[in-house]
Amino acid sequence: MYANIIIDISHEKVDKTFQYKIPEAMKSVLEEGMCVQVPFGAGNRLRTGYVLERTEKAEFPPEKMKEIGCIVKDGVSVEADAVKLAAWIKKTYGCTMIAALKTVLPVKQVFKQKEKKKIVRKADLEVIRSAYGEALRKKQHAKVRVLSELLTEPVLPYELVSGKLHVAAATLKSLQNQELIQIESESYYRNPVKPMDGEEEKKTLSDAQAHICDSILADYTKGIRKTYLIHGITGSGKTQVYLSLIEEVIKQGKQCIVLIPEIALTYQTLLRFYKRFGDRVSVMNSTLTAGEKYDQCERAKRGEIDVIIGPRSALFVPFPNLGLVVIDEEHEGSYKSEMTPRYHAREVAEYLTEIKGASLVLGSATPSLESYYRAKEGKYQLFRLTERLTGGSLANTSVVDLREELRSGNRSIFSRKLQELMEDRLAKKEQIILFLNRRGYAGFISCRSCGYVMKCPHCDVSLSQHKGGRMVCHYCGYETAQVTKCPSCSSPYILGFKAGTQQIEEQIHQRFPQARVLRMDKDTTKKKDSYEEILSAFSEEQADILVGTQMIVKGHDFPKVTLVGVLAADLSLNDSDYRCAERTFQLLTQAAGRAGRGKREGEAVIQTYRPEHYSVLRASEQDYEAFYEEEILYRELAGYPPAAHMLAILITAKEERAGIELAEQIAAVLREQISNAGQNTVQLIGPAKATVGKINDIYRFAIYLKYKDAEILYELRKAVEEFWEQAQRKNETVQFDFDPIDSY
Ligand code: ADP
Ligand code: ZN
Ligand code: ZN
Repeated sequence: MYANIIIDISHEKVDKTFQYKIPEAMKSVLEEGMCVQVPFGAGNRLRTGYVLERTEKAEFPPEKMKEIGCIVKDGVSVEADAVKLAAWIKKTYGCTMIAALKTVLPVKQVFKQKEKKKIVRKADLEVIRSAYGEALRKKQHAKVRVLSELLTEPVLPYELVSGKLHVAAATLKSLQNQELIQIESESYYRNPVKPMDGEEEKKTLSDAQAHICDSILADYTKGIRKTYLIHGITGSGKTQVYLSLIEEVIKQGKQCIVLIPEIALTYQTLLRFYKRFGDRVSVMNSTLTAGEKYDQCERAKRGEIDVIIGPRSALFVPFPNLGLVVIDEEHEGSYKSEMTPRYHAREVAEYLTEIKGASLVLGSATPSLESYYRAKEGKYQLFRLTERLTGGSLANTSVVDLREELRSGNRSIFSRKLQELMEDRLAKKEQIILFLNRRGYAGFISCRSCGYVMKCPHCDVSLSQHKGGRMVCHYCGYETAQVTKCPSCSSPYILGFKAGTQQIEEQIHQRFPQARVLRMDKDTTKKKDSYEEILSAFSEEQADILVGTQMIVKGHDFPKVTLVGVLAADLSLNDSDYRCAERTFQLLTQAAGRAGRGKREGEAVIQTYRPEHYSVLRASEQDYEAFYEEEILYRELAGYPPAAHMLAILITAKEERAGIELAEQIAAVLREQISNAGQNTVQLIGPAKATVGKINDIYRFAIYLKYKDAEILYELRKAVEEFWEQAQRKNETVQFDFDPIDSY
């Protein structure tokens, strides 16, 4: 008997299984998926690995084969489906098998169960009563306190006795020796979801909602499993549909995974699920301790929970009988992992539901081009929800041309139209959201005389101006004092562009001194819970204006908000990647959707330097379909996803020269492979310096490949992997990103 084992070292050289003999004593206990220790390499160092397969067939002479050392006691086993999933991730995204296995294992280590101790009355009440009397006479105060409690309660929680009653362990020991009490312990699972209050208000599904639920459930009952896309504006009742679907699927003895972007997974959202499913629902997010995560997986395996909610990693919770996966806000960029393997949760969910025989439901107000494209191709079934169920209507949206403002002498960051409306809302005591469409951070510092831009000495990005005269790099954290003279021409006019959230807040104070302002950005939400705190404060009307980055377009509902201002709509249009129009459209639509959620009508003002851009226009008209048609045309013409596939190869190097050379070599390998295979329609772009050419003194280069057929791109990647395995280079790295959503 032999075992094929994958070793826990993420290196291309060991990215294959190694065969070991199963020792006699282990034969009856060793299972596939188990975590083991094996002697590895010339020095026979013990290494951790996973048993992928048991087999009768020796791949080389057994007398030369090493034996498995031991089974790791607190090692987590990998399940057969997880191995399949890992193999798929490796094949699709390009990484070692062990990296893929680690991705699909939500926790890597077994945690002991938590224990709760309690004190149980052992003797009859009379005996306790006489012991109590005796303790009183002997002035044994601690004993008196415990015994008096035990006269009325048969069981006491240990913490109560040791804490509130101040009883020492020695006293309890003595009571135990007298056979008056017994200390018992009970193990339990950590549960990150605290019991919540509130009854669910029963709602009858609208006709449109009922139609979606009925169709999907009819399929489900017939055994049809596929992917559904619900395109519904915010507030159109998508979550209500998910709840009904989940309820039915649970009734059939199955479990459900609900993915929600971490930032939208607020207390309010969790509460809605809790009200419906009580403690049969749990969460899995980044704030959980490893022990809590482990316990959620255990509870899932044992069938103690039916629903798990969380960001992309919640997909890997090992339910025995998965029936449904829901991905809300499916267009969100956070569903794509930014570390190798750079998987996309939507694609992984498609494969997962396929091997598990489950259904997949996607929902969004602004579906990703990918999903809508698949719906149009007939691969996904499309449903629409077009009405808001809360009564409010979509905001009236107007576009303001900022160039026009400048021409008429308005240099403020607020257009005249926005100022007027802000005054009006402040007077009426209605709330305002000001949204800065800016990824990363604003406020780069440049010389007004010669155009010199202050850059980070370690990264190829500009420094940002912060309050208190500091300049900060948002990639590596480098910080330095603000310069007073241009390093290039000595002009004193070296200034930050005033466009960050901090600056907006200051300008509001100048322009509207009476207004109370809350700010939400990376800086104000560093602390745990600060995100929720700011939203609740705004919700409780502790402020008139909320200023923030894209964070504020998610989560809470604010019925009192009747004005949304988008301050610089096109800043993200200046990004260099092919998705910037899509991202701009999504952000603007979601931002405008924040106004008019209550009874009163809402208005949105989009300020822009590019009022003619289709992403701005279509967002102001709230016309997704029209935007899609224009955008997909561009993707088809240029060969971008979803019309074709794309493979990005990122090369990093300590030395610039070595990086360029390596990138050139890889490009040569690719060109040769392309011409050998006669795939001359594969487009190869680069190698070129990456958009951010240097981070933390590491140089970055990128190569892009575009082609219709994903399999061909996988093969090309394999050629690079093989080249790389031979290359033996220590100071460079090569990483892959299949269908990237950001540019490198
Ligand atoms: P979405 O997920 O599309 O944003 P929700 O499911 O959160 O929409 O619904 C928006 C609001 O409408 C919520 O306040 C919800 O309670 C309410 N709602 C949803 N469905 C119904 C219904 N069938 N009847 C009455 N109110 C509903
Ligand atoms: Zn200068
Ligand atoms: Zn830096």
